Amino acid sequence: MKAIVYHGPGNIEWEDKPRPVILEDTDVIVRITKTTICGTDLHILKGDVPEVTDGRILGHEGVGIIEEAGKAVRKFKPGDHVLISCITSCGSCAYCRKGMYSHCENGGWILGHLIDGTQAEYVRIPYADYSLYHIPQGLEEEALVMLSDILPTGFECGVLNGEIKPGDNVVIVGAGPVGLAALLTAQFYSPGMLIAIDMDENRLEIARKFGADYSIHLKETNPIEVVKGLTQGKGADVVIEAVGVPESFELCQSLIAPGGIIANIGVHGKPVTLHMEKLWSHNIKITTRLVDTVTIPLLLKTVQSGKLTPEKLITHHFKLYEGITAYQVFKHASAEKALKVILSAES
Ligand code: ZN
Ligand code: ZN
Repeated sequence: MKAIVYHGPGNIEWEDKPRPVILEDTDVIVRITKTTICGTDLHILKGDVPEVTDGRILGHEGVGIIEEAGKAVRKFKPGDHVLISCITSCGSCAYCRKGMYSHCENGGWILGHLIDGTQAEYVRIPYADYSLYHIPQGLEEEALVMLSDILPTGFECGVLNGEIKPGDNVVIVGAGPVGLAALLTAQFYSPGMLIAIDMDENRLEIARKFGADYSIHLKETNPIEVVKGLTQGKGADVVIEAVGVPESFELCQSLIAPGGIIANIGVHGKPVTLHMEKLWSHNIKITTRLVDTVTIPLLLKTVQSGKLTPEKLITHHFKLYEGITAYQVFKHASAEKALKVILSAES
């Protein structure tokens, strides 16, 4: 089969790899129909994730059809149409038992990281019973690719951890795909005001289309003054960090109202300054989380009912064999006006 294979920083190839086989009775083999590229894949490509070694097939998102199922798999059979969670969970370790699949002792984020991933014609999915979801009939595959990772990430790490309540003033710092996923799912809770902050006018325009009441261009205005102005000098009740650099995390600390919650989603590669000299008395809470994907069933229902339309995040379409070009487009997201790209296998 063919796959997108990592060969060290800056180097990926579309090349032949052996087709995966069942290794454990709890495995399935999925024939990928649609997959996508994540910001995390770009981090890998930059060499930021050294556990990813030469020869690894990338990708941790996707949908497909079960080709073969191990003897112990109970919930899935060949021919089933499935959504792959970016998080593999065994379902029985201590972390899985409390719903923290991200830290599964036998899984967690392993696809396209510690084992071969989904940017391929076929992928082996361990612990299939707990790591896959049946796709309800009639649902659009493309929309569901967004449910493998970015929608649950925006929702769980941003919206749920931020404890957004009706009427809350919410700021989302970073209007990339995950920030926008938080923006879409924040609206389940009827916030009073949704403010998006970014440096890219195209993304801010999309944020407004997706429901942001205000958008702030970082380079053109002082976001602290604008947010204070919009909130009677108080600041935001919830600030969601969806960038992952020290500057953005510091900005969040300047935007939060007393009693507020800063919910971090961003993948941080460097230490950040925590301004305890200002915040010690402000009754704030800071949360961090790696997505558990426990909300995939809930999100599937919202897509089914039409409350959530995640296909809005898709800007570009490629064939799977055009994956290397797709990486180039995704890497230059701002110039290409790209959010999420879909890679489709040929049927
Ligand atoms: Zn991802
Ligand atoms: Zn587990």
